[in-house]
Amino acid sequence: MKMRAARMYGYKQPLRLEEIDVPTPGPEEVLVRVGGAGMCRTDFQLVDGYFDTGLSMDFPITPGHEVAGWVDGIGSAVPKSARLAEGDQVVFGSWGDGACRQCHEGNEQLCAHGVWAGFGRHGGYQEYMPVDYRYLIKMPGRGGLSPETLAPLTDAGLTPYRGLKKLRNAGHLGPGRTVAVSGIGGLGSYAVQYAKLLGGGATVVAFARSDEKLKIAADNGADHVVNVRDKDTDTVRVELESATGRAELDAVIDCAGSAESIRLAFSLLAAEGAVASVGLIGNRVDIPLFPLVAREYTYYGSFWGNYNDLTEVLALARAGQITHSVTRVRFDDVNDTLEAIARGDILGRAVIVYD
Ligand SMILES: [Zn+2]
Repeated sequence: MKMRAARMYGYKQPLRLEEIDVPTPGPEEVLVRVGGAGMCRTDFQLVDGYFDTGLSMDFPITPGHEVAGWVDGIGSAVPKSARLAEGDQVVFGSWGDGACRQCHEGNEQLCAHGVWAGFGRHGGYQEYMPVDYRYLIKMPGRGGLSPETLAPLTDAGLTPYRGLKKLRNAGHLGPGRTVAVSGIGGLGSYAVQYAKLLGGGATVVAFARSDEKLKIAADNGADHVVNVRDKDTDTVRVELESATGRAELDAVIDCAGSAESIRLAFSLLAAEGAVASVGLIGNRVDIPLFPLVAREYTYYGSFWGNYNDLTEVLALARAGQITHSVTRVRFDDVNDTLEAIARGDILGRAVIVYD
């Protein structure tokens, strides 16, 4: 049987849209028929060579790490206790080797021998893909959420959730505090919602460089929005104070990851404030050291999310507590859409749907 696949044969060249054989799952794998594949800015970065020294690639590679689909075949060694059957709706995050400390802690996304579909291992820009049964999360019942709303929850809707949990668990949120979400793209449109859900009454302010994106932030519950395009720190500080009544932030989740957004976050931070970085546009961080020490700032890296984080996000989605901002993409438009994502021209998350 044949399937469509958008594959990468090298850096800085368009994906080739091909017809290839449907893969055969290994004994401990499940063949997933992809219903929706989210398109992440990191997919553009993968093609552009951002990860060329960090990840070993054996071309051709099929990108796509945000996948929702259905069980289409089950490997011979998948145990009955996994309770998987053909037709089950499933999602998954990363999967680990199951042997290291991070895996034993339940942080398989940090496993040094982990598998990230779409980054070496074939991902969801193809219609079928094998997945280790241990990392599949089965959605209860039939129907429910559509693949195009589910798929982005496995990264865009997961990564900021973990970041905000770190800020909350360390006591940086709560009443009287202000938390900023910087960058309202695929991740940020979810981050403002988690800032409300997990914030314990904290004031939520969104920073972005376009009014269209700030409208999404406001629609998703941000209390205040500030357009930061071409503004220096002092101007942003004045607008922040007139919006929130305070010229400082207690916590920032940075979903952009540009040098400017990180610098802005630290310049506006209150004493004992914290920044969680989840965005990856830039390469390096350059922040003043003295205030970090003297005002006891905390800086968190937060990477993707683990199996348990994902189950929590899915539970919020099933309870109707998450608003989805999705743009459906036809398979044939994959390359054009990657370019639009690189320009920042996509509102919410672009998701390939196979018709
Ligand atoms: Zn491991």
